[in-house]
Amino acid sequence: MGRNKGHTPVRTCISCGAKRGRKELVRLVLDPRGLVVRDDSGKGRGRGAYVCLNKPCIGKLETGDRLKRAFRKEGPLSLHPEFREEMSGGGDYKKVKS
Ligand SMILES: [Zn+2]
Repeated sequence: MGRNKGHTPVRTCISCGAKRGRKELVRLVLDPRGLVVRDDSGKGRGRGAYVCLNKPCIGKLETGDRLKRAFRKEGPLSLHPEFREEMSGGGDYKKVKS
């Protein structure tokens, strides 16, 4: 860390650890009930976490302590049902225009 030069902020996927530009990752935040939701606007309050826009990475979110570590919360944390459904709907995760 601390070696970033240039202007592109780099985020780390909490599933695979890949470092990517912010636009290649989806930002996650916790809603008031402690469910993980997308934050496409990037304006969600509180601590955010990032994950790659692909099924394997999103599928791995709920394994291990990833979410707890990312949000520094005591679990159990789970994905919002809509978010999960969106992911299981087939095909790649579609990014909405921001
Ligand atoms: Zn990833």
